[in-house]
Parts: sequence; structure tokens; C-alpha cells
Amino acid sequence: MKMRRKGDLPQKTCAACGRPFAWRRKWARDWENVRYCSQSCRSKGANAEPVERPARNGRVGGR
Ligand SMILES: [Zn+2]
Repeated sequence: MKMRRKGDLPQKTCAACGRPFAWRRKWARDWENVRYCSQSCRSKGANAEPVERPARNGRVGGR
């Protein structure tokens, strides 16, 4: 068993559930824009947040 250092990965706090989550590879490109730990949280947060975002590219690629 190899031990991975969790501390190596950057972390953020989910804007929906308020829990910290760690960097994931699928977010490598979009890490700056990631605010939620999961898609469900993202949809929740999107609903909870009245903030209008500039429509950059319309949709966020899930993959
Ligand atoms: Zn969350």
C-alpha cells in the first residue's frame, strides 16, 4: 500500500454543501471555476445562487 499525500492536492470548499473537497483530475483544466464537489451540488448551488454569471461558453463540459 502506498500512502498518498492528500496535502499535495489543492482543496476548495463546496459552495453548496460547504464541505471541503480535493482537486480532481477531471477538474484540471477548470479548477479555478470549480465551486462544487459534485454535479448535484453544482445544480443545487446554481439554484441557490441568484448570482448571474457571464455566459462564457454556455455549458460546462462534464468530461
Ligand atoms: Zn458539495
